[in-house]
Amino acid sequence: MSESRLREEICRYGRSLFERGLTPGSSGNISLRLDDGGWLVTPTNASLGFLDPGRISRLDGRGNLVSGDKPTKEIPLHTALYESRGSARAIVHLHSTHAVALTMLPEIDPRAALPPMTPYYLMRAGETALVPYYRPGDPAVADAIRGLAGKYSSVLLANHGPVVAGDSLEAAVFATEELEETAKLYLLLRNLNPRYLSPDQVTDLAKTFGLDLPSLHDHEGHDHG
Ligand SMILES: [Zn+2]
Repeated sequence: MSESRLREEICRYGRSLFERGLTPGSSGNISLRLDDGGWLVTPTNASLGFLDPGRISRLDGRGNLVSGDKPTKEIPLHTALYESRGSARAIVHLHSTHAVALTMLPEIDPRAALPPMTPYYLMRAGETALVPYYRPGDPAVADAIRGLAGKYSSVLLANHGPVVAGDSLEAAVFATEELEETAKLYLLLRNLNPRYLSPDQVTDLAKTFGLDLPSLHDHEGHDHG
């Protein structure tokens, strides 16, 4: 896809996410890795609902601004996830309500922030890690993401929002939406003793669709009876 088409795609998906209330005000950002090693990134203080394709920040492979507006200050989130997820081509970060709410609950497992509730959550978003709170723009958040060693394509930042990588912009957007909807389901069903997918059902999905789920690796070689 040509760079001008990719710029249009960023604006189109950005508007769609914004118009459905998935990230308010000028929150949220999108980045995309280009074939020459550079990136397109949404500018700082830009609403995802009103992006201008010609003003999207164009960075070279070292992260220097080549053209367009000044990039989002949340760049460290993106670089850390690209560094640790070699196959990632696009990253979406939102301040979506249900995913943010989830990060504040006391019972959340930082290595599996959501239980296996639906097949499409696992197929699109995989499992989700939760990293602690960092002040926006704090470069330490990048170390926290690198600390996950690339095992997770979807990460929740406590009291802040999701960061999700995909092998295309469409994949990253769909995974982010799936994560948000699953967080919403979790909140709807919390304390109602819902039936989640069983370990056998999760294993079956992983085998059938080739899902690389961190929990399956963690359990390798262990006998859980
Ligand atoms: Zn943010």
